[in-house]
Amino acid sequence: MSIRISQIEKTYGYKGHGSKGHGRTRALEPIDLDIHDGELIGLLGPSGSGKTTLLRIVAGLEQADSGSIHFGDRDVTRVHVRDRRIGFVFQHYALFRHMSVFDNVAFGLTAMPRATRPSSGEIRSRVMQLLEMVRLQDFAERFPAQLSGGQQQRVSLARALALKPDVLLLDEPFGALDAKVRQELRRWLRHLHEELHFTSLFVTHDQEEALELSDRVVVMSNGRIEQIATPDTLYRQPANRFVFEFLGDVNRIEGDIEKEVLTCGNARVAVPGIENGRQELLLRPHEVRLDEQPSTRAHLPVSVTAVVPVGAEVRLELEADWLGEPWLATISHADFERLAITRGKRLFAQPSRLHRFDTSRPQTLAPLSAS
Ligand code: ADP
Ligand code: MG
Repeated sequence: MSIRISQIEKTYGYKGHGSKGHGRTRALEPIDLDIHDGELIGLLGPSGSGKTTLLRIVAGLEQADSGSIHFGDRDVTRVHVRDRRIGFVFQHYALFRHMSVFDNVAFGLTAMPRATRPSSGEIRSRVMQLLEMVRLQDFAERFPAQLSGGQQQRVSLARALALKPDVLLLDEPFGALDAKVRQELRRWLRHLHEELHFTSLFVTHDQEEALELSDRVVVMSNGRIEQIATPDTLYRQPANRFVFEFLGDVNRIEGDIEKEVLTCGNARVAVPGIENGRQELLLRPHEVRLDEQPSTRAHLPVSVTAVVPVGAEVRLELEADWLGEPWLATISHADFERLAITRGKRLFAQPSRLHRFDTSRPQTLAPLSAS
């Protein structure tokens, strides 16, 4: 089921409450968003950016001030939540504690009006099929308190899918769980999404979660959409500084530019094509290379202040007099060994790329030739 969100706007507060603006929160600027049938969309943004509000408006749990919501060709703007064919999963499991796992999953089906309700045999086989899908068929008779947090969220997923929703809405569903369980539940969601072909809108404030799960990510801040893009495009071609900074670690260098060279204390780096003046340039940790010697293009002395040699790459923290805050660098284990890096080691940084966002369009500058 495709979803079309058009000019949806929301301000919380009371009409006539106090003076202008007092007691009112503008939660959503007019929002436009088209979600394709079968897509898994991640809504990503810091706390308070309007994600939950948008999700609740799509669900019909909250009324927008203006704008419209379409599911396919159907205008559902004024349709009641129970008639929208939606499944929900929230952060707090919200399972019925006095009901077994089986009864929790069956709840939506057994609560249907008699005329449309499936027979108890049909309900039983549907529930068992859902429990098998989330690999909890052996836990049907247990109660929520007898399950781990991750298992409880799998029950929530099964329950949300019991009525074969066209649209699945998830609000930080894995937020309360630890990293390993979150990872596992992401795989579940992906897997179920592909198997059952519903359309999902998934709220998270975790960049990695959004980038890993989503077909496309919607980045929000202050009630606005900053960018809508595939994870890859978002990471490589951020529309603005907010998106760049929100999506990963960022290093900064600020200095005066003259004749295509940025100088900052005793550090300098050639930035071909840049005009004179004060500039702040940004780069990702993987865009920092390290060497024993400065090059003709870059003289950026740093010392290594922390080393985390865990995982596919080595993470380093770098400090220098010319830096306001430390830089992070990720380098290969091979480079780590070649340079014999230890804490306190003095090296020279070589940016492979630099980004600037003060121009009308973001600009990526490559101070190093691709050698
Ligand atoms: P997010 O889910 O991204 O954290 P929310 O949609 O919950 O953001 O909130 C967006 C803004 O609206 C915030 O400033 C929040 O304080 C405000 N807000 C949310 N719900 C209400 C409410 N029921 N009444 C008043 N203000 C609210
Ligand atoms: Mg929220």
